[in-house]
Amino acid sequence: MEKKNIDWANLGFGYVKTDKRFVANFTNGAWDEGALIEDDMIVMSECAGVLQYAQTVFEGLKAYTTEKGNIVVFRPDLNAERLEQSALRLEMPVFPKDKFVDAVKQVVKANSAYVPPYGTGATLYLRPYMFGINPVIGVKPADDYQFRIFSTPVGPYFKGGAKPITIKVSDFDRAAPHGTGHIKAGLNYAMSLHAIVTAHKEGFDENMYLDPSTRTKVEETGGANFIFVTKDNKLVVPKSPSILPSITRRSLVQVAKDYLGLEVEEREVLFEEVKDFAEAGLCGTAAVISPIGKIVDHGKEFCLPSGMEQMGPTTKKLYDTLTGIQMGRIEAPKGWIEVIE
Ligand SMILES: *Cc1c(COP(=O)(O)O)cnc(C)c1O
Repeated sequence: MEKKNIDWANLGFGYVKTDKRFVANFTNGAWDEGALIEDDMIVMSECAGVLQYAQTVFEGLKAYTTEKGNIVVFRPDLNAERLEQSALRLEMPVFPKDKFVDAVKQVVKANSAYVPPYGTGATLYLRPYMFGINPVIGVKPADDYQFRIFSTPVGPYFKGGAKPITIKVSDFDRAAPHGTGHIKAGLNYAMSLHAIVTAHKEGFDENMYLDPSTRTKVEETGGANFIFVTKDNKLVVPKSPSILPSITRRSLVQVAKDYLGLEVEEREVLFEEVKDFAEAGLCGTAAVISPIGKIVDHGKEFCLPSGMEQMGPTTKKLYDTLTGIQMGRIEAPKGWIEVIE
């Protein structure tokens, strides 16, 4: 298919309307077949469950053009499984995994003119989501739901190289103990907006949230998990029931073990330990890894030995290996790459 005339390398991370989106409706206790449609507008009751009580969950994944010219998506089965967990926690129906993966493929195929060419650094971002759509005024789960996937081309996350970022320890919490930190729900983002706007006003790129009950352990940021590298070159990733299980982080753990032969520790990470790490980064679908140069805790600065100019060497190896797998330059573990066409 002929590509759209888009300046791929200069695209930002914003919404660009593409041709087709997938829509399925859950009514009378069952999902319909779903279909690709052109209309990007949603008409719903003013009293829809999602508008009144924020009953909505979402996912995020990308389609890429590989070195060989295939269009692929990365581990969509894990997005389907995570959406299922998110839906169950908010008393929403499950959208079946095989139908989810099929819908992802349909959306990418229908919008393949928007999948950026190999080498541009740009990708087609996919946003599956589900929300309560019928009127709900007494507090209870909705009866009817809509599942949608739209796509939007997004530019390279790092323009001109991955510069390490500065983050602050937040005075706010992103998740409650036994709350919803582990699911991908809009509600977790709504309450993080004030914290990120505040951090930006103060000149920081991101927040580091600590565990909400003791404020002694590292959790994550508003939309990415942490990875750390020790001075003896082990990968350390924080473990907590209120961290969102990032697919990028889980993939990096496997890459570290199986491709780089690193020792990996998935465990609670005390904030006190942060000063002893050699490298740190944030990981998620958007950037894969953003290196961290400096962490500031109420005026006290911890500068990572990897510095403010470039990624640390192990972070870079992890980044290069995972992006190499995604872009088809390095052989992927079985089942990681779903080829569209
Ligand atoms: C989506 C998300 C991540 C990153 O997950 P990926 O599957 O790697 O994209 C991390 N933290 C939060 C809170 C998220 O919502």
